[in-house]
Amino acid sequence: MAESRAGRVHVVGAGLAGLSTALRLAERGAAVTLHEAQRQAGGRCRSFDDPRLGRRIDNGNHLVLSGNASVRAYLRAIGAEDRLVAEPEAGFAFVDLATGRRWRVRLNDGPVPWWVGTASRRIPETTVADYLSGAWLALAGRGATVAEAIRARGPIWARFWEPLTLAAINTTPERASARLLWRVLAETFLRGGAHARPMLAPGGLGDALVGPAEAALAARGVEIRFGRILRAVEREGGRAATLRFSDGAEALGPADRVVLALPPSRLAPLMPELALPDDDCAILNAFFVVPEAARAALDRAAPITGVLSARTHWIFRRGDVVSLTVSASDRLGLDRADPAELTAMLWAETRAALGLGAEMSYANARINKERRATFDQSPAGVARRPAARTGLGNLWLAGDATDTGLPATIEGAIRSGETAARLAA
Ligand SMILES: Cc1cc2nc3c(=O)[nH]c(=O)nc-3n(C[C@H](O)[C@H](O)[C@H](O)COP(=O)(O)OP(=O)(O)OC[C@H]3O[C@@H](n4cnc5c(N)ncnc54)[C@H](O)[C@@H]3O)c2cc1C
Repeated sequence: MAESRAGRVHVVGAGLAGLSTALRLAERGAAVTLHEAQRQAGGRCRSFDDPRLGRRIDNGNHLVLSGNASVRAYLRAIGAEDRLVAEPEAGFAFVDLATGRRWRVRLNDGPVPWWVGTASRRIPETTVADYLSGAWLALAGRGATVAEAIRARGPIWARFWEPLTLAAINTTPERASARLLWRVLAETFLRGGAHARPMLAPGGLGDALVGPAEAALAARGVEIRFGRILRAVEREGGRAATLRFSDGAEALGPADRVVLALPPSRLAPLMPELALPDDDCAILNAFFVVPEAARAALDRAAPITGVLSARTHWIFRRGDVVSLTVSASDRLGLDRADPAELTAMLWAETRAALGLGAEMSYANARINKERRATFDQSPAGVARRPAARTGLGNLWLAGDATDTGLPATIEGAIRSGETAARLAA
C-alpha cells in the first residue's frame, strides 16, 4: 500500500548516472526499479573478461582525480572507498617520444601553487607566466574554444594545454569548449594537488564503481532488470503514462515517476522533442599483455604516463597489462587505420615510452574502439545539453550529457544522478 501511495521510480539505464540516481533515490526511501538494456551494468565504464588477453580488463582507461567530490561521495555510499586509491601525490609522468625527454610534473598539495615557481616540478621550458594563461579560460564566453581562449603557444601549449584538453574534453583544443575545461581545472588542479591526485582502481572499474553499487542497491531492495530495452515512452496529459520495453509494457500509476539515464543517441528516439548534442566522439584503447621478461622494466614505470609526439596519449599499467588511450581517435584519423598496423605502431610507442627494449614483443594484444565515448563537447554541442527537467511532469533526465556544467566524465554522470534523484524524489 505504501508503495502505491508514494509510487515507484523507474530508472532506465544502469550506467554510472543510473546507478547514482537509483542509489540516491533508494537512500531517500523511494521504491526504485532500474532497467538496463545490456546484461551487465556500468555502461561506458565497465569491466569484462577478455578471452583474447586472458585477463579482466576495463573497456577503456578512466582517469578520476581526488577532487571529484561526487565520485568520492558515491564510493562512500556504496562502501567502496578502498577500491579507488589516490596516488600519494599529484604527480604526472611524461615522455616526449620525439626527443626522448622525460619529466614529472608535481603539484604541491595546498591551494597556493608554489610548484609552478619550482623549475624541477613544472613542465620543462615553461615559465610561471605561462601557467597564468589558464586564467583566460575563466573569462571565456560560452562560444569560445580552448584554442581561442588561450593564446599562449610553444612548450606550455604542446606539453600542457593540448594533452590536458584531449584527456579531459576528448577533442582537440580547436573544438573543445573553454568553459568545460575551466570547470575541470576549478574543481581539481586550482584547488591544489590534494584535489588533483590520480585515483586508480587496482581491481578495475567494475570492481570499484559498479559491483559495489549493485550490491548496495540490492541491499536497499532495488531490483535491476537486465536485458530490457526501452523502446517508447507513451504520454498522456503532459506525463509519461507507459514505458514500452522490448519485453513488455510498464503502465505508470499516478504517483510513479521515471528517470531516463541514457546517452543522447539512445534518448533521441524516446524524446524526439529534444534537440540533443551528437554523442559520436570516439576513444580508442589498446591493451597489451607484457611478457614476463619485461616485467622488471614495466614495474619501474609510473602507473600512468603521458606520451607526447605520439599517437598514444596515455599509458596505464596494471599488473602485466598496459592499456593505451588515444583520445578523439575519430578526429585524429585512427579509427580507420588497419588494425594490424595500428597495433604494431602503438606497441612500438609503448616500448619506447616504457623503455621495454626494441626487441621486446607483447604476449597478447587487443584494440577496443568506443565510437560513442562522449558527446560533442564543442561550444555548439554544449549548448544542446538537455536539462534534468523535461516537459513531462513525472520524467527527468540523468546522464553525462545532461547540463551538469562538467565534461562527459564519471564525475558528471554521478552528479547528474544526484540532481535527477533530488528532482524525482
Ligand atoms: C573509452 C572511454 C574512456 C573514458 N575516459 C574517461 C576518463 O578518463 N574519465 C572520466 O571521468 N570519464 C571517462 N569516460 C566517460 C565516462 O565513461 C562516462 O562519462 C560515463 O560512464 C557515462 O555514464 P552514463 O551513465 O551517463 O552513460 P552510460 O554509461 O552510457 O550508461 C547508459 C546505460 O543505458 C543503457 N541503455 C541505453 N539505451 C537503453 C535503452 N533504450 N533501454 C535501457 N537501457 C539503455 C546502456 O546500456 C548503458 O548501460 C570515458 C568513456 C569511454 C567510453
